[in-house]
Amino acid sequence: MNTKDDFIHLKPKFLSYLERLLGVEGFSTRKDTILPYLSEQRGNFNGSSQLLIRPKTTNQLSEIMKRCSSQNLKIVPIGGNTGLSGGCVPSENGDEILLSLERMNSIRNFDETNYTITVEAGCILSDIKSFVEKRDFFFPLGLASEGSCQIGGNLATNAGGINVLRFGNTRELVLGLEAVLPDGKIWNGLRSLHKDNMGYSLKNLFIGSEGTLCLITAASLKLFPKQINSKTILCCLNKLTSVIELLNLTKKLSSETLTSFELLSNFGVDLSIKHHTQIRFPIENKFNWYALIHLSSSNRNINLEDNLESIFSLALKKGIIEDAIISKSESQENNLWKVRESLSNAQKLEGGSIKHDVSVPIDKIPFFIEMASKEIIKYLPGSRPCPFGHIGDGNIHFNISQPKRLPKDVFLEKSSEINKIVYDIVMELNGSISAEHGIGMLKTKELENYRSNEEIELMHKIKKAIDPENIMNPNKVLNEIK
Ligand SMILES: Cc1cc2nc3c(=O)[nH]c(=O)nc-3n(C[C@H](O)[C@H](O)[C@H](O)COP(=O)(O)OP(=O)(O)OC[C@H]3O[C@@H](n4cnc5c(N)ncnc54)[C@H](O)[C@@H]3O)c2cc1C
Repeated sequence: MNTKDDFIHLKPKFLSYLERLLGVEGFSTRKDTILPYLSEQRGNFNGSSQLLIRPKTTNQLSEIMKRCSSQNLKIVPIGGNTGLSGGCVPSENGDEILLSLERMNSIRNFDETNYTITVEAGCILSDIKSFVEKRDFFFPLGLASEGSCQIGGNLATNAGGINVLRFGNTRELVLGLEAVLPDGKIWNGLRSLHKDNMGYSLKNLFIGSEGTLCLITAASLKLFPKQINSKTILCCLNKLTSVIELLNLTKKLSSETLTSFELLSNFGVDLSIKHHTQIRFPIENKFNWYALIHLSSSNRNINLEDNLESIFSLALKKGIIEDAIISKSESQENNLWKVRESLSNAQKLEGGSIKHDVSVPIDKIPFFIEMASKEIIKYLPGSRPCPFGHIGDGNIHFNISQPKRLPKDVFLEKSSEINKIVYDIVMELNGSISAEHGIGMLKTKELENYRSNEEIELMHKIKKAIDPENIMNPNKVLNEIK
């Protein structure tokens, strides 16, 4: 194992090598430059590192990895640093090198005929989306972090987001990958094929591997026709079970135009409005639950508003919903979505929050939310559950805001017990304790507890086969390397 002193000892020779390979732009040892890369979004993890490397090309990265593997230097890949599981935070020892692909941000190819785009890992997601939109295409990955996250990070975490219901996770949006392996070899799998069954799928192994198996350097992504027709409805409900009835009714009546189906609670809406005074919530009466439903299409001739009107009428007639409002303009639509998008920040402003990104089979969602809320309040009276999220695909962000009168740190100290209550219920229902945010450093223990021995053993074997020296993002996903 490298100690901090070993690393310092290596420095002068290694740094002059980096300067020859990358130029002075390509790396930094300055504390103020490195500092923003050392902590993550939620402030749960802080690390230390003495070196940040920023290559510009795949070949440069390959050379760096050859050197790192021969000297057993550990590296931590970092994208836009918007991840929510501490996956790109280096260890506190300061003996890991940060590897940012932010300068590898070119669009290598845009292919209108095959509906594909080939991008480098450091491209910001919103830049890719606007590049294709200007050319009348659509890339469906939709995250509130899209202005900062990089496609390499999206691939490494197999990000989900609001459009999974219709277009799938990041994995489903990728045709080919290019990656640099821990020993510096370049794997060029940048194929743009929809059908390719030649042996094991390395692409699918590397997507979602959170920087522990390889560095993703480029990807060939699927494109769709630009969605020029868009409407949103906000439905108000009092019974949680009705949300699933509404989802099924909407699926039947809107077929392939159903793009997002998000759940909000009354508490969540109150929090968003309380902490973001610019938001105008269009419904005056209080309801227990709200469903935000988005339909979109590339066909201008489909009347989405009529479609939503008929869903609204039927749902009202069947007693599924109590009220609803359909967006009449783009600004009304944006306003409805602001309530949802502001929720994470609102919870932060409200105080301590213990968060769970889980999924269960869709029909079990009401049972899960009710059971988990009941058990948490029994364990810690005054706790305020704030379930919300992409429930159209079974994903619930089951977050709990602290009891009003309890100090934040006392509440956060109870995280392990609260997590266990929630995760035990999730596993009882055959769900997942990480629906879309990955394992990172946050859930390594839980991964071991909740996946079978056979699965964990296989994961260790794969890690060992590809990264035998354990230099890629150590202690992320898998805790102790066996
Ligand atoms: C406001 C907000 C909303 C969000 N909404 C969603 C959501 O709806 N759905 C969702 O899934 N996530 C969401 N996230 C989480 C986050 O945005 C995603 O996980 C995103 O995919 C991370 O991308 P990134 O570039 O920031 O990666 P980083 O945070 O920099 O890294 C994440 C992981 O990927 C690894 N990595 C990064 N780049 C590479 C690479 N090129 N090669 C190999 N490994 C690499 C890192 O080592 C780390 O383990 C949200 C985050 C925020 C702050």
